[in-house]
Parts: sequence; structure tokens; C-alpha cells
Amino acid sequence: MAKCTAITQGGDRCKGIAIDSSGYCYAHHPDHADERKRAAHKGGKRGGRGRPSPATGELVRLQGEFEEIAGKVLAGEVERGDGAVVAQLLNGARACVLGLLKAREQEELYERVEELERRLSVNQRNLDQKGRKAW
Ligand SMILES: [Zn+2]
Repeated sequence: MAKCTAITQGGDRCKGIAIDSSGYCYAHHPDHADERKRAAHKGGKRGGRGRPSPATGELVRLQGEFEEIAGKVLAGEVERGDGAVVAQLLNGARACVLGLLKAREQEELYERVEELERRLSVNQRNLDQKGRKAW
């Protein structure tokens, strides 16, 4: 297998394995850099019902960071220990985003139930009035 031809920030030759004939590993491959950027850009712009969803965008961004770290660890640019710590911290951020999504879901459900209850009571009042008129 061919070695990656990129030079790392430290000035050494990258220790990664080239993923195709381009001679670059995953971390250095220009195609994948574009892919990651596009995914992070495209993702989460719009949520359900056309509203922006920052949580989805955050998750896509975090995914990109996880992949970047994975690539750099494999390429020998980031030490395994550092990579593990960063991955753990990113996992914490991910937990926050997921928690936020859940909380928002609960809030939306609560609002919808309240709205339904309000409409029900309005309908009930209308029915009562019609009933009285009929008498
Ligand atoms: Zn490389």
C-alpha cells in the first residue's frame, strides 16, 4: 500500500496510507475535505416544517470533527491519547445537543397539547351556546 504524500504540520511526511491513486490518506485527501465541508454546510440548515434546526447542524459539524480526528490519529498527526481525550470532549458536546433536541421535543409536545385543550374548550363553549339557542 502506498504511503500518503502529504507533509504534516510538524513538517514530517504523513504516516497515513493513501486511500486511492491520489496519494493522500483520508485526512489529507482534498475530495474528503470538500465532502466534510459540504456536509457541515448543507446539514441542519432546515429542520422539520422549514424551521432552522441548529441542533442538526451541530451534530453534522461534530460528526465532521470526529472524522477529522480519526483521520489525524490514523495519519499520526495527533497522538492516540490526545485524540481519545478530544473525542471524549466532543462526545460531551454531542450529549448536550441530543439533550437539547429532546428538551425541545418535549416543549413542542407540551405546547401542542395546550393548544388542543384550548381549542377543545372553545368547541365545548360553542356547543353549549348552540344548545341554549335551540331551546
Ligand atoms: Zn496523510
